[in-house]
Amino acid sequence: MSGAPQDVTVIDTLMWGHEGMTAAFLVEAERPALVDTGSRTSFETVRSALEARGLGPDDLEWIVLTHIHLDHCGASGDLAAAFPRARVVVHRRGARHLADPGRLVAGSAAVYGEGFHRYGDLLAIEESRIDVAEDGHRVDLGGGRHLTTIEAPGHARHQNAYLDSQSGALFGGDALGMEFHGGELFPALPPPDVDVEAGLSSARAIADARPTAIGVGHFGWVRDPEAAPERAQDIWRAVGEAGRSGWRSGSDVASVTEAFEGVLPSSALLSARGLELILELGWLDHTYAGLAAWAEADAGE
Ligand SMILES: [Zn+2]
Repeated sequence: MSGAPQDVTVIDTLMWGHEGMTAAFLVEAERPALVDTGSRTSFETVRSALEARGLGPDDLEWIVLTHIHLDHCGASGDLAAAFPRARVVVHRRGARHLADPGRLVAGSAAVYGEGFHRYGDLLAIEESRIDVAEDGHRVDLGGGRHLTTIEAPGHARHQNAYLDSQSGALFGGDALGMEFHGGELFPALPPPDVDVEAGLSSARAIADARPTAIGVGHFGWVRDPEAAPERAQDIWRAVGEAGRSGWRSGSDVASVTEAFEGVLPSSALLSARGLELILELGWLDHTYAGLAAWAEADAGE
């Protein structure tokens, strides 16, 4: 928790009723910003949390999205409707999907399978309320404070991180992986667009920003913000090697899984509760499949 800013509240979106799984962050600046929203099924939870912090319908200025996976952005449409002044900030590759979510929702349903209904879909957001955040884009929090965009692909092509100019805290989404329920930093590599080289350079860019605190979607502030970006680079290198060697040995998900578990054993890096949760959510299988898809494409290049 060292360095976690006083005026940023971690909101537990209680995804699927689980505590400590998916976070949103309320930056209580002059112009308040919510970073990530949780899934659509978390809308009421997040709305009530904002209300409990004293934010009325006209008080939220920004909904800032790290990326457009539904566990991070799914409630953004309903929140935009509930907070009509708020503008929505997103990576350029995410903007059109927020305005017209059909393809995003269909793609997510394909990845999540039968668990999809527990995320819910996404209410469309008027295009005129969406701001595209390129690398270096600043979100004005008032009083000279801003969030600076660091483009951070790797986990997804539409991933950004945001650095708070006042506190030095960084909101990383899933760019560095997850750290939750007492476990170690662990990669999140869902299909369809894992990019190991991009992930590595994103982790480097985040390290260069020297954040004083790092908030991750799953879940909250990382224990050691100084070490995490370096550790994330090691992890990206390890998954890259595991993906390549697994694919060389068997050209299938099972071989990539074996190679991954050889270098990043999930049962050692995650806590018992953390492992139980990502198995229930299907995220560990997604990570094996996402890495295998990257390795297959990489082998074909
Ligand atoms: Zn994600």
